[in-house]
Amino acid sequence: MKDKHFETQAIRAQQERSQNNEHSAPIYLTSGFIFDTADDMRAAFADEKEAFIYSRYTNPNTNELAAKMSLLEGAEAGVVLASGMAAIFTTFMALLKSGDHVVSCSSVFGATHTIFNKYFPKWNIGYSYFDANNPEEAEKLIQPNTKFIYLETPTNPAIEVIDLEVIGKIAKKYNVLLIVDNCFATPYIQQPIQYGTDLVIHSATKYIDGQGRVLGGVVVGKKDLINEIYLFGRITGPSLSAFNAWSLSKSLETLAIRMERHSENALYVATELEKSNKIELVKYPFLPSHPQYAIAKKQMKAGGGIITIVVKGGYEVTKNFMDKLQMIKISPNLGDSRTIATHPASSTHCKLTEEERLAVGILPGLVRLSIGLEHKDDILNDILQALN
Ligand SMILES: *Cc1c(COP(=O)(O)O)cnc(C)c1O
Repeated sequence: MKDKHFETQAIRAQQERSQNNEHSAPIYLTSGFIFDTADDMRAAFADEKEAFIYSRYTNPNTNELAAKMSLLEGAEAGVVLASGMAAIFTTFMALLKSGDHVVSCSSVFGATHTIFNKYFPKWNIGYSYFDANNPEEAEKLIQPNTKFIYLETPTNPAIEVIDLEVIGKIAKKYNVLLIVDNCFATPYIQQPIQYGTDLVIHSATKYIDGQGRVLGGVVVGKKDLINEIYLFGRITGPSLSAFNAWSLSKSLETLAIRMERHSENALYVATELEKSNKIELVKYPFLPSHPQYAIAKKQMKAGGGIITIVVKGGYEVTKNFMDKLQMIKISPNLGDSRTIATHPASSTHCKLTEEERLAVGILPGLVRLSIGLEHKDDILNDILQALN
């Protein structure tokens, strides 16, 4: 499958089949697996023989999803977990120990930020933030005990684009790991492993599912690291259900075509919204006005589906705008076929202090729009009528 194109791989790779020769993959709803002999079971536990043992470890559906995601990201190996946060937390716990230090971009997903600032101090793990607009800053923050550089690009919700080539070189120079949360772009739009990234993380809940149905998390990358993460996950239990793995693997079949349309719709809506005098700022990676437009064009195949706008007039006007949306719903999710509006300052990033929010551009009037797959004019018209 390595010689096939992305679209083909996403559809054809790695389908597990039962003895019934079904065309579409079945769901393996079983907690445990059976062994012909006691010695077969012993050999499986001793890692002498590869076998399914118990669904907290692996299952045909979770294996299929992990293998497909590895192939699509160009990774050696992969592991799937119950949610994006399970993937992030399991990765951190498997790799870090007391006394370690992490360098991260300052604008990270709200819950990731909370792991850093609430839990890391408890475990004696240090962290330093670099400004996503200035990736060279990361170099100065590296200490002898720095284990990895962590980042998202584009960032949530400020839509900053971080130069993966620059960060990849810094990580290599100082021999620290590079971990990228590739949730916003998906492997269709960018493959961070090409720039020397060691581990790529996904909240599969978003574009991998694409229809707002199930939670899931993915980590792919270097085999030795994945083995550590897999082991930690299998011992501590944040396992992905077979049903969710099956849904996510099915969804991958349409990932390429969905990302194309999300991106086409988002570019159209962003371009049109830039003309509105009710909006202070529109941010989208493929708008020429974006501060990192050139970097986005270099490392991304398309702009993705997320736009942020800053509504003029502050929080009250912004709340009113969101309440006036008719078709578009207010929800914390993103990457759905339905367009979604989120107010990060009062929801996903409410645990940050006002000061921390402003530092990463989360203004009171900022609204994140996850542009869906509806007709682009219906999306735009709903936004325009709510603004007016
Ligand atoms: C949603 C999200 C997460 C967390 O994923 P869950 O599946 O909700 O646990 C992590 N990173 C980014 C960038 C996200 O958007």
